[in-house]
Amino acid sequence: MTADSDSGLYQLLLHLPQAETVTVGRLGTFDLAAGYYVYTGSALRARARRVARHRASIKPLRWHIDYLTTVATVVAVRLLPVADGECATHQQLCAQAGVTLPARGFGSSDCRQGCGSHLAYLGREPTAWPGPPNDAARDPRVAGCIDD
Ligand SMILES: [Zn+2]
Repeated sequence: MTADSDSGLYQLLLHLPQAETVTVGRLGTFDLAAGYYVYTGSALRARARRVARHRASIKPLRWHIDYLTTVATVVAVRLLPVADGECATHQQLCAQAGVTLPARGFGSSDCRQGCGSHLAYLGREPTAWPGPPNDAARDPRVAGCIDD
């Protein structure tokens, strides 16, 4: 097992309990409705630590997603292989009925496949969430890193 074996894609299911106006660094300010959001990202290494970081509400604000995870709660996580494709995974979700893109450019600075944003809004209920609501705390690869 190499240091880079913990790499891959992840999707965070986030719950925003109430509507918020969120300033996302230099990207701009967005009015986000209450409900469920999915952020699709990738980590070339140390994915478990990255996911644990997303679950923390207090941290330096570095990525676009950091501005959202300070007000929204990560309620479930899916881990996927790199081969699934970050953009393809996100676009699969966007093909579901009722899914919208609430913040143009969010998390997609490196996107070359025209997603427009790697943050999707599912609505008031997480109906379009494609996986089981697997609590990341029960995933040992994630749980082992929460305290580091
Ligand atoms: Zn993309």
